[in-house]
Amino acid sequence: MAKWSRFIISHVILDSSIFNVLHFLLKRIDRRYFLMGILNSSILMKDKYDVVIIGAGLGALTAGALLAKRGIELLIIEQNYIPGGACTSFKREDRIFDSGAALFFGFGKEGFHPERILMNSLQEELEVIPREAFFRLNFEGKIITFHKDINKFIEELKKSFPEVQEQLEKFYDYLMNFYENNIKGHEMLTSPSELTIKDKLKMLFENPKRAMNMRRLLKMSAKDIMAPYIKSKRLIEFFDMLCSSYIYCIAEETPAILALTTFTDNHAGGSYYIAGSAQTYSNTLEKAIEKNGGTILYRNKVKKILFDGKKANGILLSDGTIIKAKKIISGTTVWNLYNDLIPDDLLSKKQKNWVNSLENTYPAMVLHIAVEKSVFPPDTSPVEYYVSDSSNIDMGDITMYIPTMDDHSLAPQDEHILTVFSPAPDQSWPSPNDPEYQSEDYYQSKKKQADLIIDEIEKRIPNFRKGIRMLLIASPSTIERYTLKNEGCVGGPKQSIGQDLSNRLHAKTEWKNLYACGDSTTMGMGLPAVTVSGFAVANILLREFHKEIYKENPILKDQVSSIKSKKSYLIPDLKNVTLENVKLIARLCQHCQDAPCMANCPARIDIPNFIRRIEAGNFIGATRIIRETNPLSEICGTICSPDRLCQKHCYRNTFAKEPVPIQSLHKWISSYTANDGWSNYYSEENDKNIAVIGAGPAGLTCAYFLARLGYKINLFEKCENIGGILLNCIEKKLIEKEVVEKEISFMVSKGIKIITNREISDEEELFELEKKYDAIFLTAPLSLPDEIKNHQKITLGGRWYSENSDQYEIVESVRDGRKAAQTIHKKLNNLREKFKLD
Ligand SMILES: Cc1cc2nc3c(=O)[nH]c(=O)nc-3n(C[C@H](O)[C@H](O)[C@H](O)COP(=O)(O)OP(=O)(O)OC[C@H]3O[C@@H](n4cnc5c(N)ncnc54)[C@H](O)[C@@H]3O)c2cc1C
Ligand code: SF4
Repeated sequence: MAKWSRFIISHVILDSSIFNVLHFLLKRIDRRYFLMGILNSSILMKDKYDVVIIGAGLGALTAGALLAKRGIELLIIEQNYIPGGACTSFKREDRIFDSGAALFFGFGKEGFHPERILMNSLQEELEVIPREAFFRLNFEGKIITFHKDINKFIEELKKSFPEVQEQLEKFYDYLMNFYENNIKGHEMLTSPSELTIKDKLKMLFENPKRAMNMRRLLKMSAKDIMAPYIKSKRLIEFFDMLCSSYIYCIAEETPAILALTTFTDNHAGGSYYIAGSAQTYSNTLEKAIEKNGGTILYRNKVKKILFDGKKANGILLSDGTIIKAKKIISGTTVWNLYNDLIPDDLLSKKQKNWVNSLENTYPAMVLHIAVEKSVFPPDTSPVEYYVSDSSNIDMGDITMYIPTMDDHSLAPQDEHILTVFSPAPDQSWPSPNDPEYQSEDYYQSKKKQADLIIDEIEKRIPNFRKGIRMLLIASPSTIERYTLKNEGCVGGPKQSIGQDLSNRLHAKTEWKNLYACGDSTTMGMGLPAVTVSGFAVANILLREFHKEIYKENPILKDQVSSIKSKKSYLIPDLKNVTLENVKLIARLCQHCQDAPCMANCPARIDIPNFIRRIEAGNFIGATRIIRETNPLSEICGTICSPDRLCQKHCYRNTFAKEPVPIQSLHKWISSYTANDGWSNYYSEENDKNIAVIGAGPAGLTCAYFLARLGYKINLFEKCENIGGILLNCIEKKLIEKEVVEKEISFMVSKGIKIITNREISDEEELFELEKKYDAIFLTAPLSLPDEIKNHQKITLGGRWYSENSDQYEIVESVRDGRKAAQTIHKKLNNLREKFKLD
C-alpha cells in the first residue's frame, strides 16, 4: 500500500478527525505544488485569491462589490443558482415573484440610507419606486396606514386611539427629540460593535452627552422607553405589533436603540420597491463585482473552512476542490459557520454553547400567489400587514407584499403578484436533505398551512381564494434549501436583548483571517443592517490591504433614481435584437433552475445565467459566462441550429407562443462585447508541454483552456490555416471570415505555438511526440489501435468532419475540447486528486 494511503488510513482510525488529516496534507501541498487554475464544469478559476466569500446573500454581495471596486481579487461561492440569498426573485409563466425581501428601506435621501450610499460608492445605477406609506396594519377591525410623513402617521394613530392621544403625542415627542439630538446625522457605516476603541473615544470626546445617552439605551428594551409615556394596554399591544413587524420581536425583547431608530428613521428615509423586482438589486451587485474582475461560482457549496493552526487559509468545496485565500468572509449564518464550516477541533465548549444558545428569528411559511386584480378592494396598499392576535407573534401575523401595485411589469395586467409570509407553526419541518422532504406528508402539511393563511386573507379580501390563478407554497424547508437559513428562519438570530451588539457574531471573528457579514452579524433588521455589515467587513479588509476605505458621504454622482410606478408589461420585438430592446427580450427567460435549454446545449452553456445577466445590463458578465464554457461564442451563436437544440426545449414553449430567442441573444451579446468578456486570468506558466493535434474547434478549445491553466501548448495543424471545419463554414457563407479570425485570435493569444502544414499521419510519429510531451490531445480520431486509445498520455476527442457534418457537431467539438483540457489537467495534476477527500 502506498505510503500516503497508509498514513491516511492510520490517521483516520487513530484520530477519527478527517480534518486533522486535511491539515497535514495541506501543509505538504503548500511545499510541493505550484500555483495553478481550476477548471470546473462552469468556469476556470484560480486556486488562490486575496479574498474568498462564502455565499452570495446581500451582505456578501455588498462586501464583494466594495472590495472588487478597490481592486481586490476575489471569488464568491454560492450554492444556489442565482445571487441574492433571501433577496431573490423567480419567474413562472411570465410572472415575477419575490422570494423574500420586497419592502426596501435604505434608499432615501434623508435618514440612514446605506443602500443609496452603496450604489453611489459603486457608481451603479438603480431605479427605485418610492411609496407614500410603508404598509397598512389591519387589526381588531382597525386599519392604520404607516405614512412616510411622520406627522401624518401620528395623526392617523391619534384617530385610531382617540382615548390616549396625549400618551401618543408625548411618546412621539420623546422619540423625535431623541432622534434629532442623538441619531440624525450620526448614522454610520459600521455597527457600534465593530468600532475600534479609538473610534469610541473620539465619539465620547466629540459629544459626551450623546455618547452617554446612547450607552444608557444599550441596556434598555422598547418596553422600557415606552413605560414613562404609554400606559394604555391597547397601545402597548400596538407597539408590540410594531416591533414584531419591523424587528420580529415583541417590545419587551426589542433593544431600545433599535426601536427608537426604526420608529423614527424609517419615516425620514421612506420605503421603496426596486423597479424590476428584488432580483434587480442582487443582479446589480453581481454586475459591479464582475465588472471589477470578481468571480462568482454558483451551484457550489463550501463544506469546510481550512486552517493553518488558528489562521483561516482556504476553503474546501463539496466536490473536493480546495481554494486558498488570504482572507475569508462568511456570509452564511452563525450556526452554519460554527457548527459546519469551522473544524470542530478549533471550537471550545464555550463557543459551541454560545452559538447554540442563540435563538433564531421565526421560520416562515411563504406563499407566492397570482390573483385576479378585480378581487382587491380599491384602497389596498402595496404592503398589508394582518394581525389576528395582537398578544402573540403567530401564524395570524400575515405580511402581504403586492409589488405589482408599484411595478406592473411583473405580471399580466389583470393580475396582482403576491408574496405572503407568516410565522410557520411550531412543528418540525424536514431539512432539505431529509427523506421526508418532498414526501406526501410534507406536501399535505404545506397545503394545510397555505389553506389557513388563505382563510385569514379571505376574512379581509372576500373572494380572494376564487381569484387565485397560481399558488406556489414555500415552507421553512424551502427557505432553508435556497438560503441555508437554519430551520428556514427569516433573518438569522433574533435581534432581541442579549443577542444584540456585542453578543452577536462580529465582522472580525475570533480566528485570524476569518470575517463575517450578513444578518447574523450587525444589529438591525433586514437589508439596511445587512448592507452595513457588508460595508463594515469591506472596510476592515481594505484597511488590512492598505487600500482606501469607504466613507458615509461619498461625493459622487447620485446613482439612485426615483421613478413613478410602472403601469404595464412591455412586449418586446423578438425579431430584431438591439441594444434598446435586448434587456426586454432577455426578460422573457424564466431563469429555470434545472434549465432544459442548458441540458440540451451541446456546449452546456449556462443559458439562464447569461440571459439573466443580459436582463441586468451586465453584458460583460454575460459574455464571460458563455466564453468560460464556449470560447467560440460568436461563431457558435451564429451557426448553431437552436430549433433542434436549446430553443426546442425551452420551457417557454409550454405556456407561450414562442421560445426565448436564445440564439439571437447569444449572437448579439458575443458580437456586442466582441473584445470584452475574455477572462484575463492565466495561471503562472508551468513546465509541462502539451501537444494538441488538429486546430479545429476541439483542438483550439482544448489549447485555449490548457494555456490559461499555465501549460505550454504546441498546436499542430495539417492545413495551411487553423480553424478546421470553421474554414468550410466561411466558404459556405455561414459565417464571416472576420468573425472567425477575430475569435480565434483571442483564443490563441497567449501560451500557444501554432505549427501549420504539419500532419501527424501515423502511429510512429505519434509515439515520437509522446516522448517529448507530457500529454497529447488527438482530435478527429479515426479507428485507432487500443494501444493508442488507452495510452496514459493520450486523450482523444473532437469529430471527424465530412460533407454531411452539421453545425451541431461544431458545438459538440467545443465541448469535447473543454472536456479534454479538464482530463489532461486532472491527469497531470494528480496531486490535487490525491487530496480529494470525498
Ligand atoms: C420571506 C422573507 C421576507 C423578507 N422580507 C424582507 C423585507 O421586505 N425587507 C428587508 O429588508 N428584509 C427582508 N427579509 C430579510 C432579508 O431578506 C435578509 O435578512 C437578508 O436578505 C439576509 O442577507 P444575508 O447577507 O444574511 O444573506 P442570506 O440571504 O442569508 O444569504 C446567504 C447566502 O449564502 C449561501 N450560502 C450559505 N452557506 C453556504 C455555503 N456553505 N456554501 C455556499 N453558499 C452558501 C446561501 O445559499 C445564500 O444564498 C426577508 C426575509 C425573508 C426570508
Ligand atoms: S431559455 Fe432556458 S432558462 Fe430561459 S426559459 Fe427557456 S428553458 Fe428556461
